[in-house]
Amino acid sequence: MAVLPDSRPDDDPRSGSVPPCPPEVEVRRSARRRRTVSAYRDGGRIVVLVPASLTRAEEADWVATMVARIERSEQRRRPSDDDLMGRARSLSDRYLGGLAVPESVRWVENQSTRWGSCTPGERTIRISSRLQQMPQWVVDYVIVHELAHLVEAHHNERFWAWVDNYPQAERAKGYLMGWSAARDEPDEPDNPG
Ligand SMILES: [Zn+2]
Repeated sequence: MAVLPDSRPDDDPRSGSVPPCPPEVEVRRSARRRRTVSAYRDGGRIVVLVPASLTRAEEADWVATMVARIERSEQRRRPSDDDLMGRARSLSDRYLGGLAVPESVRWVENQSTRWGSCTPGERTIRISSRLQQMPQWVVDYVIVHELAHLVEAHHNERFWAWVDNYPQAERAKGYLMGWSAARDEPDEPDNPG
Protein backbone atom coordinates (compact mmCIF):
# COMPACT_ATOMS: atom_id res chain seq x y z
CA MET A 1 0.00 0.00 0.00
CA ALA A 2 1.28 3.45 -0.85
CA VAL A 3 2.05 5.52 2.17
CA LEU A 4 0.67 8.99 1.79
CA PRO A 5 2.68 12.08 2.64
CA ASP A 6 2.79 12.78 6.35
CA SER A 7 0.16 15.24 7.40
CA ARG A 8 1.18 15.00 11.03
CA PRO A 9 4.49 14.31 12.79
CA ASP A 10 4.98 10.73 13.90
CA ASP A 11 5.66 11.75 17.47
CA ASP A 12 2.37 13.59 17.67
CA PRO A 13 0.61 12.02 20.67
CA ARG A 14 -2.57 11.93 18.63
CA SER A 15 -1.03 9.77 15.91
CA GLY A 16 -3.17 6.75 15.35
CA SER A 17 -5.97 8.09 17.42
CA VAL A 18 -9.13 9.69 16.23
CA PRO A 19 -8.71 13.38 15.34
CA PRO A 20 -10.67 15.79 17.52
CA CYS A 21 -14.23 16.67 16.54
CA PRO A 22 -15.63 17.92 14.31
CA PRO A 23 -16.19 15.63 12.60
CA GLU A 24 -16.64 12.56 14.74
CA VAL A 25 -14.63 9.74 13.21
CA GLU A 26 -14.76 6.06 13.96
CA VAL A 27 -11.88 3.90 12.74
CA ARG A 28 -12.51 0.19 12.28
CA ARG A 29 -9.45 -1.97 11.79
CA SER A 30 -10.16 -5.24 10.07
CA ALA A 31 -7.81 -8.21 9.85
CA ARG A 32 -9.78 -9.49 6.87
CA ARG A 33 -9.35 -6.26 4.96
CA ARG A 34 -6.03 -6.55 3.12
CA ARG A 35 -5.45 -3.59 0.89
CA THR A 36 -8.30 -1.22 0.63
CA VAL A 37 -9.29 1.71 2.78
CA SER A 38 -12.85 2.92 2.57
CA ALA A 39 -15.01 5.39 4.38
CA TYR A 40 -18.63 6.35 4.61
CA ARG A 41 -20.86 8.77 6.43
CA ASP A 42 -23.10 7.35 9.16
CA GLY A 43 -25.25 10.13 10.56
CA GLY A 44 -22.99 12.60 12.35
CA ARG A 45 -19.98 10.27 12.12
CA ILE A 46 -17.55 9.27 9.43
CA VAL A 47 -16.58 5.61 9.61
CA VAL A 48 -13.19 4.69 8.13
CA LEU A 49 -12.41 1.04 7.45
CA VAL A 50 -8.72 0.18 7.35
CA PRO A 51 -6.68 -3.03 7.18
CA ALA A 52 -5.33 -4.09 10.57
CA SER A 53 -1.88 -4.35 8.94
CA LEU A 54 -1.51 -0.56 8.75
CA THR A 55 0.78 1.15 11.21
CA ARG A 56 -0.82 3.76 13.43
CA ALA A 57 0.90 6.52 11.45
CA GLU A 58 -0.37 5.12 8.15
CA GLU A 59 -3.80 4.81 9.65
CA ALA A 60 -3.77 8.45 10.77
CA ASP A 61 -2.79 9.55 7.26
CA TRP A 62 -5.52 7.50 5.67
CA VAL A 63 -8.13 8.76 8.11
CA ALA A 64 -7.21 12.39 7.36
CA THR A 65 -7.33 11.68 3.61
CA MET A 66 -10.63 9.84 3.67
CA VAL A 67 -12.34 12.36 5.95
CA ALA A 68 -11.20 15.22 3.71
CA ARG A 69 -12.45 13.34 0.65
CA ILE A 70 -15.89 12.75 2.14
CA GLU A 71 -16.17 16.35 3.31
CA ARG A 72 -15.19 17.63 -0.14
CA SER A 73 -17.79 15.51 -1.86
CA GLU A 74 -20.46 16.50 0.65
CA GLN A 75 -19.57 20.13 0.09
CA ARG A 76 -20.07 19.67 -3.65
CA ARG A 77 -23.36 17.86 -3.16
CA ARG A 78 -24.78 20.10 -0.46
CA PRO A 79 -28.05 21.49 -1.74
CA SER A 80 -28.63 25.22 -1.34
CA ASP A 81 -31.63 27.02 0.12
CA ASP A 82 -32.62 27.86 -3.47
CA ASP A 83 -32.68 24.16 -4.32
CA LEU A 84 -34.85 23.58 -1.28
CA MET A 85 -37.30 26.34 -2.21
CA GLY A 86 -37.55 24.98 -5.74
CA ARG A 87 -38.20 21.51 -4.39
CA ALA A 88 -40.88 22.84 -2.03
CA ARG A 89 -42.67 24.64 -4.87
CA SER A 90 -42.84 21.53 -7.00
CA LEU A 91 -43.96 19.35 -4.07
CA SER A 92 -46.68 21.88 -3.23
CA ASP A 93 -47.93 21.79 -6.82
CA ARG A 94 -47.86 18.04 -6.91
CA TYR A 95 -49.30 17.04 -3.53
CA LEU A 96 -50.94 20.11 -2.02
CA GLY A 97 -52.72 21.50 -5.06
CA GLY A 98 -50.29 24.44 -5.04
CA LEU A 99 -52.08 25.78 -1.93
CA ALA A 100 -48.94 25.89 0.22
CA VAL A 101 -46.95 28.96 -0.82
CA PRO A 102 -43.97 29.43 1.49
CA GLU A 103 -42.21 32.75 1.85
CA SER A 104 -38.94 30.99 2.56
CA VAL A 105 -37.65 27.45 2.95
CA ARG A 106 -34.15 27.05 4.32
CA TRP A 107 -31.73 24.59 5.84
CA VAL A 108 -30.87 25.04 9.50
CA GLU A 109 -27.98 23.49 11.40
CA ASN A 110 -29.17 23.86 14.95
CA GLN A 111 -32.35 21.85 14.84
CA SER A 112 -31.13 18.84 16.76
CA THR A 113 -34.37 17.17 17.75
CA ARG A 114 -36.78 18.29 15.06
CA TRP A 115 -36.70 17.43 11.38
CA GLY A 116 -38.39 20.59 10.34
CA SER A 117 -40.48 23.46 11.56
CA CYS A 118 -42.98 25.86 10.14
CA THR A 119 -44.19 29.29 11.23
CA PRO A 120 -47.54 29.54 9.42
CA GLY A 121 -48.02 33.26 10.24
CA GLU A 122 -44.80 34.13 8.42
CA ARG A 123 -45.02 31.23 5.97
CA THR A 124 -41.43 30.28 6.76
CA ILE A 125 -40.14 26.72 6.82
CA ARG A 126 -36.89 25.42 8.26
CA ILE A 127 -35.51 21.98 7.46
CA SER A 128 -32.82 20.29 9.56
CA SER A 129 -29.53 19.88 7.70
CA ARG A 130 -29.29 16.37 9.24
CA LEU A 131 -31.69 15.37 6.49
CA GLN A 132 -29.06 16.10 3.86
CA GLN A 133 -27.61 12.65 4.55
CA MET A 134 -30.93 10.94 3.93
CA PRO A 135 -32.64 9.72 0.77
CA GLN A 136 -34.51 12.36 -1.23
CA TRP A 137 -37.87 10.68 -0.64
CA VAL A 138 -37.40 11.16 3.12
CA VAL A 139 -36.42 14.82 2.70
CA ASP A 140 -39.47 15.28 0.46
CA TYR A 141 -41.70 13.86 3.18
CA VAL A 142 -40.47 16.42 5.73
CA ILE A 143 -40.92 19.24 3.19
CA VAL A 144 -44.45 18.06 2.38
CA HIS A 145 -45.20 17.81 6.12
CA GLU A 146 -44.06 21.38 6.77
CA LEU A 147 -45.82 22.68 3.64
CA ALA A 148 -49.04 21.06 4.82
CA HIS A 149 -48.81 23.22 7.96
CA LEU A 150 -49.26 26.26 5.72
CA VAL A 151 -52.68 24.82 4.84
CA GLU A 152 -53.51 23.25 8.24
CA ALA A 153 -51.56 24.50 11.24
CA HIS A 154 -52.45 21.56 13.47
CA HIS A 155 -51.89 17.84 13.27
CA ASN A 156 -55.57 17.13 12.67
CA GLU A 157 -57.30 14.80 10.22
CA ARG A 158 -57.29 17.33 7.40
CA PHE A 159 -53.58 17.88 7.93
CA TRP A 160 -52.76 14.18 7.64
CA ALA A 161 -55.02 13.85 4.60
CA TRP A 162 -52.84 16.42 2.83
CA VAL A 163 -49.64 14.73 3.96
CA ASP A 164 -50.92 11.34 2.82
CA ASN A 165 -51.16 12.63 -0.73
CA TYR A 166 -47.43 12.04 -0.70
CA PRO A 167 -47.20 8.31 -1.50
CA GLN A 168 -44.14 7.56 0.63
CA ALA A 169 -45.38 9.38 3.75
CA GLU A 170 -45.78 6.26 5.89
CA ARG A 171 -42.51 4.77 4.75
CA ALA A 172 -40.66 8.02 5.46
CA LYS A 173 -42.17 8.28 8.94
CA GLY A 174 -40.91 4.76 9.61
CA TYR A 175 -37.47 5.63 8.25
CA LEU A 176 -37.13 8.69 10.51
CA MET A 177 -38.43 6.77 13.52
CA GLY A 178 -35.87 4.03 12.91
CA TRP A 179 -33.07 6.54 12.39
CA SER A 180 -33.85 8.21 15.72
CA ALA A 181 -34.32 4.95 17.57
CA ALA A 182 -30.95 3.68 16.35
CA ARG A 183 -29.33 6.79 17.82
CA ASP A 184 -31.49 6.97 20.91
CA GLU A 185 -32.75 10.41 19.92
CA PRO A 186 -36.27 11.79 20.01
CA ASP A 187 -38.29 11.56 16.82
CA GLU A 188 -40.23 14.81 16.55
CA PRO A 189 -41.15 15.97 13.08
CA ASP A 190 -42.02 19.39 14.52
CA ASN A 191 -44.10 21.08 17.17
CA PRO A 192 -46.98 18.90 18.15
CA GLY A 193 -50.01 20.94 17.28
ZN1 LIG B 1 -46.14 18.86 11.96
